[in-house]
Amino acid sequence: MHQISIWEKESFFKHHDITIIGSGFVGLWSAYYLKRQNPKLKILIVERGIIPTGASTRNAGFACFGSVTELIADTLKFGEEKMLEIVEMRYKGLEKIKKTFRDKEIDFENLGGFELITKSEQLDTNILRSNIDFLNRKIKKIIKKPKAFKIHDAVIKKFGFTNIQHIIENKSEGQLHSGKLCQALLRLVYAMGVTVLNNIEIKKIGEANGIIELETNQHFNLLSDQLLICTNAFAKELLPELNVEPARGQVLVTSPISGLKFKGTFHYDEGFYYFRNLGNRILLGGARNKAFEQEHTYELSTSENIQTALEVFLREVIIPSTPFKIDHRWSGIMGLGNDKVPIVKKVADNIFCAVRMGGMGVALAPVVGENICALMKK
Ligand SMILES: Cc1cc2nc3c(=O)[nH]c(=O)nc-3n(C[C@H](O)[C@H](O)[C@H](O)COP(=O)(O)OP(=O)(O)OC[C@H]3O[C@@H](n4cnc5c(N)ncnc54)[C@H](O)[C@@H]3O)c2cc1C
Repeated sequence: MHQISIWEKESFFKHHDITIIGSGFVGLWSAYYLKRQNPKLKILIVERGIIPTGASTRNAGFACFGSVTELIADTLKFGEEKMLEIVEMRYKGLEKIKKTFRDKEIDFENLGGFELITKSEQLDTNILRSNIDFLNRKIKKIIKKPKAFKIHDAVIKKFGFTNIQHIIENKSEGQLHSGKLCQALLRLVYAMGVTVLNNIEIKKIGEANGIIELETNQHFNLLSDQLLICTNAFAKELLPELNVEPARGQVLVTSPISGLKFKGTFHYDEGFYYFRNLGNRILLGGARNKAFEQEHTYELSTSENIQTALEVFLREVIIPSTPFKIDHRWSGIMGLGNDKVPIVKKVADNIFCAVRMGGMGVALAPVVGENICALMKK
């Protein structure tokens, strides 16, 4: 076993004011707000992957705050107040991303979002209209526009989809490049003086005389005054009492499709299916509802049944008469629970957590980072 040098002990592995576990969007935004609040803080982020290895670099890159059927389902399940709370967090988060980074840096494009209602769903159009009116009334204060959602069936033919009854448009939705956003955030926190160490897994949290000692999978432990756990889906590994369960999300990307007829982000089936253009390719993800038990896993692999379900949706609804090839397949792990509102709280003296981002953590992360920062100051 090799020992650490005095130089390493006094720099990379020194006693930090705050150590953050996890370098996904939440860990990075939290470091950003903590440093903005107090530039003198010595902050360390430890990440077990060689790059963030959960959801932040493995998602679909939707810059969205929820589709109509999803928000109605949330209202029925969690109540109107919770639904609005989460929409507000997401919307404010998106505003913060746009304010912090130039569009080009993160490939942000405001191409609009759309929800597909298929003919086989046999949704009553009057009920759909009244749900849209309800949501528009409720969220207009948040997004400062009178009508977030509107039925826009004229685009069904233009986009080339089949079996579609209605399309609902949301002009406030955009898309971005999740890898570039992660790198931009890393550059930002490096420039603020945050240290980021990869390939270090925190195995155990200990405490002696008010100082936190983190046992790692390496040949050293780390010391810190405060600890912030941003491990999202993996939160239970360190904090077993939390209500956070892993939910795998699978994705595929086609090869380029000449003459692709649509641009934008698309939702279907309460958000269980989602697709977007990626230049002239299609990125499609979801179908977790075809096998909930199987997808309740930390395993970063893909499975034949879900990938087949995605391909069927491509063939039967999205590009019915166009041959396609699949170039990429991958998965990421989301953190879900019995509530859609993230867990942002103190868990013990000097130990905090910000986890359970669900399926829209790109949007939520900036506000979650800001909120945990305010809590840690108290
Ligand atoms: C397929 C898919 C599609 C999605 N699409 C979208 C989308 O289009 N728009 C959207 O808003 N959201 C989307 N999401 C959700 C979004 O990606 C997540 O909510 C968000 O990235 C969560 O960020 P996080 O920082 O909380 O977690 P993560 O990015 O998972 O970060 C947690 C980090 O903690 C690290 N870690 C865990 N345990 C330890 C340990 N013991 N020691 C050290 N490090 C540890 C992990 O390696 C990981 O890097 C999607 C998710 C998936 C999986």
